[in-house]
Amino acid sequence: MFHNTLLSLSVHSAALLNSPTSSLDPHTALSSHYAMAGLTRDELLAALTSMKVEVPAETSISDDALDRRLQRALKAAQHLEQAVPHPPLDPATLPKWGPQRGPVAQAARRGNLDDAFFAPLDAAAREQARAAAAPADSAFADLRRLVGAVAGLRDAGQRWCVVTVDGRVAMNLRVLDIYELDARTPVLVVVYKRLPYEDAAARAGLRWIDTQLSRESGGSLHATAPGLKLLTRLLAMNTKTLSSSFRPKKDPTEKDFKVSFLLPVGPLDYEDVGKFHKRPLCARCGSPTLGRCSECMAVPYCSTECQKADRAAHKPACRSLQGGTWLTVPIVSQLPGFEHLPFVENLNRYNSRKAAEPVRTDAARPPPNIHDENPFLVKIQFSGGAHMLVYDRQRSFQVYFSQTKDAGGFQEIVGEIQGPRGGYSGLKMYRWAKRVSDWELSVCFDREPQTEIMW
Ligand SMILES: [Zn+2]
Ligand SMILES: [Zn+2]
Repeated sequence: MFHNTLLSLSVHSAALLNSPTSSLDPHTALSSHYAMAGLTRDELLAALTSMKVEVPAETSISDDALDRRLQRALKAAQHLEQAVPHPPLDPATLPKWGPQRGPVAQAARRGNLDDAFFAPLDAAAREQARAAAAPADSAFADLRRLVGAVAGLRDAGQRWCVVTVDGRVAMNLRVLDIYELDARTPVLVVVYKRLPYEDAAARAGLRWIDTQLSRESGGSLHATAPGLKLLTRLLAMNTKTLSSSFRPKKDPTEKDFKVSFLLPVGPLDYEDVGKFHKRPLCARCGSPTLGRCSECMAVPYCSTECQKADRAAHKPACRSLQGGTWLTVPIVSQLPGFEHLPFVENLNRYNSRKAAEPVRTDAARPPPNIHDENPFLVKIQFSGGAHMLVYDRQRSFQVYFSQTKDAGGFQEIVGEIQGPRGGYSGLKMYRWAKRVSDWELSVCFDREPQTEIMW
């Protein structure tokens, strides 16, 4: 897979080295949007959403609170707390990743059922399917791709790369060594430098490339601007987990390079998504909280103080669910005749260090419950026939209401979808629901949720 993203630098670098003023013009570079070091607020929100971490749309939460949540999500995506249970990490105490462990890129793969589904396809079809499944602007998808590509460098006989954004070199990175945390988990120790597009820095970056090229070939990885920012955030965070006694040998041209490490990055597990969902951020101050507005259940608050302070802003959007009818509806996870469909759960089921293999959907196993007793929004889709599709925002489960299981309840919900509160041409609606048993949802079916819905 990484062969597509790795280009021989002999051509690429020659162009850079020969025409620094055209390809690395400092004026163009400094004015470009990705010259900014960190993720913008919108990019932070988009990154969290793409990692299935719920964030309130309100704007009063500080960037710091969002960044703290992003750090927790990035830790979960790497299983950092399980991988390094007693920080700091001193890679020098670990064994090196040996050839008996096989390709590093393969070992660094962490996926979900989507990946398992795409695995049998040939590489080109897989890339196409992935591109269609993941929006190109998903910073998290790009981060996963970049980490996989860096892991693949060694397999391709390379140790260093430049990461480019829009054809400009934005990061220099070298893999110093690869260690093993366990037989399945490589740790890539890297030195890297973000290039801020200032003329001097760009020229220093080129000197580094020149030095590296004099020894061995390298790779060129193309990144989106948010993807590179997320990679930079991850590297900066991981640096703090490294032991201060770990002092790997850097080149003379790498004096101002930072030392960090990369672990396999995968979608968050159910347990982690569930933790974020159970402790959403207060819409007012951004603290993790357990409570939501009891009227609409849509907006989380940490305290009555925050709720009071937000009342004027929240009031127009808050409409009581009181008086709404909660209907208990049986759910099934597979329909007769559709057993071949693999997409019943698409959160990660085998990123977990506990299970090496994907867990395929088993119609007899109750869908996972990341919500406990708490209300959550469901999307209910109906296109005629004897069943409708139901899932939550995280797609932690995907189930059906079936006419054969409960004809009366089924008809009530069809009437609601096609009625005045349904909307969306009678094809779908969003409603608050609670899990009341392994195989039942309770749906507040005659009240529209008063919250912005984007999925
Ligand atoms: Zn608060
Ligand atoms: Zn409310």
